[in-house]
Amino acid sequence: MGKSIDRIGIIGGGAAGFFTALVTAKLSPETEVILFEKTRQPLAKVKISGGGRCNVTHNCFDPSALSRFYPRGEDVLKKAFYTFQPRDMIEWLQERGVSLKVESDGRMFPSTNTSQTIIDCFMKEAKALGVTIRLESEVCSIEKTDEGVTLTLKDDTKVPCSAALLATGGMQRSYALAEALGHSIIPAVPSLFTFNIQDPRLDGLSGVAVPLAKVTLEGSGIEAEGPLLITHWGMSGPAVLRLSAWGARYLADKGYKTNLLVNWVPSLPEHKLREEIISFKSANASKQILLTPLFGIPKNLWRKFTEHCLMAEHKLWAHLSKQDLHTLVQVLCKSVFPIDGKSTYKEEFVTCGGIPWKEIDPKTMQSRLCKGLFFAGEVVDTDGITGGFNFQNAWTTGWIAAHAMIEL
Ligand SMILES: Cc1cc2nc3c(=O)[nH]c(=O)nc-3n(C[C@H](O)[C@H](O)[C@H](O)COP(=O)(O)OP(=O)(O)OC[C@H]3O[C@@H](n4cnc5c(N)ncnc54)[C@H](O)[C@@H]3O)c2cc1C
Repeated sequence: MGKSIDRIGIIGGGAAGFFTALVTAKLSPETEVILFEKTRQPLAKVKISGGGRCNVTHNCFDPSALSRFYPRGEDVLKKAFYTFQPRDMIEWLQERGVSLKVESDGRMFPSTNTSQTIIDCFMKEAKALGVTIRLESEVCSIEKTDEGVTLTLKDDTKVPCSAALLATGGMQRSYALAEALGHSIIPAVPSLFTFNIQDPRLDGLSGVAVPLAKVTLEGSGIEAEGPLLITHWGMSGPAVLRLSAWGARYLADKGYKTNLLVNWVPSLPEHKLREEIISFKSANASKQILLTPLFGIPKNLWRKFTEHCLMAEHKLWAHLSKQDLHTLVQVLCKSVFPIDGKSTYKEEFVTCGGIPWKEIDPKTMQSRLCKGLFFAGEVVDTDGITGGFNFQNAWTTGWIAAHAMIEL
């Protein structure tokens, strides 16, 4: 099928847009690929990502398991990962001389430990493939035409394209272009944040980390597990960040004020925990409760628990009453903390919301409402928990869009 314009416009020079431009140009060298970035700096988030190290992807190669790290978009991404998944991205980078290393929690970073490696690789590839990068070029509107779409820039320049990719990220204002073409927008709310909690039980515990805790938003059924960190403003760590992602919309609706339940020993069911305390009590009757932390709970935290709930500084295990036992078990399994606001997690944050999947064909990433318009990255209503999943979403959706755009 002949086409009169052989030009693909990429709107947004972030991870998704840039990667899509590279894949498109490689697949179809005769096509003119132009990337429009409204700021002076493409790949700005890649630069600061992962604390400057760029957590490129995650060491998880099973599409089904991988998709479960996405609070929104899981079903669609599961299929998409059969087309392009972390292993493919690792290979893509390796073929271009960039090796990744895996950390113990599965996060993957450039072996050089700097995000600049990824930026350098992308820039070099763009140059080699002849991708045109137009900085300070904001696309202000997209118009559907018989031959594809026409982009209008801020200076009123019109750029006719056979296809265009919208990869403008997750900020509310970046949705306007799609909205004007009839797309509906799921309002953006933040995901991946930490909780503000002012509670005397946490006083003086800033920096204390628990290797495994289960956290639940009271009354919602939304829960998460992982390491938990007490901070000077409340709680953070993977368990809290995961919970913030799964509960992003619920928490926004609640104005970030609700109760957090913490199970400090999720590895044991409540009855087992009770039994273990009872047997410890009989074997250690003459020891002070305060000085003998159980279940690997950090000393300072245990001291706070026992001081607060048993109100007895020098109490011995022998004197632990039935009521004390009940209270201690409750504290260990279901401590209640009032969340009062959120704070930004500087290593990574994303928004949930964006273009709904029902308006996109996931096999191609093409708009179901506007032929010739494609999407990739955070502009779509998909987001992952922390760990390299958000960039993987950008790589995967970009890869799929690139292959479909050149077919138009
Ligand atoms: C501090 C921080 C650290 C992070 N670290 C990680 C990490 O280590 N691992 C991970 O997986 N994820 C990380 N993330 C999340 C990840 O950065 C995003 O999910 C990812 O960047 C989304 O890519 P994107 O291309 O969709 O959007 P963006 O990266 O937001 O890019 C969108 C681009 O479009 C441009 N744009 C917008 N509107 C227009 C327009 N009208 N015309 C032209 N250009 C336009 C913007 O200027 C921007 O450059 C982090 C996020 C933050 C904020």
